[in-house]
Amino acid sequence: MSNLISRQALLKKLEEESGMNTPEWLVDAINEMPESLKGRWIPYINGRVYFICSECGSKYNLPYHFCPNCGTKMEVSNGSNT
Ligand SMILES: [Zn+2]
Repeated sequence: MSNLISRQALLKKLEEESGMNTPEWLVDAINEMPESLKGRWIPYINGRVYFICSECGSKYNLPYHFCPNCGTKMEVSNGSNT
């Protein structure tokens, strides 16, 4: 899933593509949407380290910024410890 974008980006895109201001009802609807789905990687150690998606339970070797399976945006800490 690659359709997770911010509200601002969505509104901008709508205005660019329609060539007019986004109707107020649509702005309201968009503002009521959650900013983004957020999940986190749950470290899982079984001989080696895996990261499990808190939303869908998929298991990966790396803590991606988005879950490749369900598209959930992940809270990834800035400190890199590979
Ligand atoms: Zn997932």
